[in-house]
Amino acid sequence: MSIATVYRTMKLFDDAGVVTRHEFQDGRSRYEERSEDHHDHLIDVRSGKIIEFTSEEIERLQKVIAEEHGYKILFHRLELYGVPIG
Ligand SMILES: [Zn+2]
Repeated sequence: MSIATVYRTMKLFDDAGVVTRHEFQDGRSRYEERSEDHHDHLIDVRSGKIIEFTSEEIERLQKVIAEEHGYKILFHRLELYGVPIG
């Protein structure tokens, strides 16, 4: 993946409101997640209904996994696709 692709992708997430760009006085910039309204999605593939949810356990686990690989998560999107039970 080229750096241009990375920036284009981050711009899309910025436009979507998922991340925000912090610009520093020395000209560098960094993206950070807008965590105050973070949620993940459960999508009903039959009806197209989208349920928003948050799970502290999942959020914590993702952080642990990233750290095990030597990374700090900037942001993530989690989408579960399913059908109603019964
Ligand atoms: Zn999440």
